[in-house]
Amino acid sequence: MSSITLKKTNREIEKMKAFYQAYLLPKTPPYSVFSAKTASCTITAYNSGKVLFQGSGSEAEAGKWGDVTKSALAAPKSTKRKASGSLPANIGSLSIIGSDEVGTGDYFGPITVCAAYVKKEQIPLLKELGVQDSKNLNDDKICKIAKDLLKIVPHSLLSLQNEKYNQLQKSGMSQGKLKALLHNQAIEHVLNKISPEKPEAILIDQFAKEEVYYGYLKGKANIQKEKVVFSTKAEGIHVAVAAASIIARYAFVRHFEKLSEEAGFTIPKGAGSKVDLAAARLLKEKGREVLPHFVKLHFANTEKAFKLAK
Ligand code: MG
Repeated sequence: MSSITLKKTNREIEKMKAFYQAYLLPKTPPYSVFSAKTASCTITAYNSGKVLFQGSGSEAEAGKWGDVTKSALAAPKSTKRKASGSLPANIGSLSIIGSDEVGTGDYFGPITVCAAYVKKEQIPLLKELGVQDSKNLNDDKICKIAKDLLKIVPHSLLSLQNEKYNQLQKSGMSQGKLKALLHNQAIEHVLNKISPEKPEAILIDQFAKEEVYYGYLKGKANIQKEKVVFSTKAEGIHVAVAAASIIARYAFVRHFEKLSEEAGFTIPKGAGSKVDLAAARLLKEKGREVLPHFVKLHFANTEKAFKLAK
């Protein structure tokens, strides 16, 4: 079902309420000013000023009150998650292994993958420690939380360093396949660590369709499939994934510091133009033979760096 959110002032909301007078619903949800239902759209205005339009007629209805294209693009995207297969309804409160990776989009530095087991009794503690989506945390905070997590959460942390990554990539392995192998292995390690205890589910932050993921693992021994579920934005579904992500990020940041030390200057993250300049500097100062130790060679940044270094 399509939905659109607009932000409105109290006065505008009063006007809207008058406009939808004939369609007002007797019951309104908590924190709302009014709720109305037309033939093709349900309109709910909240105290916060947000007005939500839901249903097939949402675009037309919201279009009467504001710029739909802009707000529709800006609004619910960030909270939408896509799950493949069916996630247990209560997954957020189960004892699960969560798995996530870091560094796949960064030209410099390794790929780090972590699987972490969080028992349901530990969920409040982890939340207390500040475990949440690592994208909302800065690196200082991540390192601080990670140090706590390393002590209290059974986990497996795998780092694929650049030399090895480049070697495997050159031999024909896609990044997707490398990720799948690392996730599978990290999960296996954690299962061994906590045995005979078993998790109620294993949640992988999804980077490929389920069938593609298992396609990557084809022919491998010990493919972990039992109770494995996938979802995008899984960090928001269970703290185990958020914890895994924080530990993986911590390892990535630490390795990045080491690379910066070796380079003799601060290496930038990501894969933008700053990264091209840093790689060009590295080429000039240390020579081309050091590059495979620092970067993911197959990124387009390599060519740009060589051009800049000329
Ligand atoms: Mg992820």
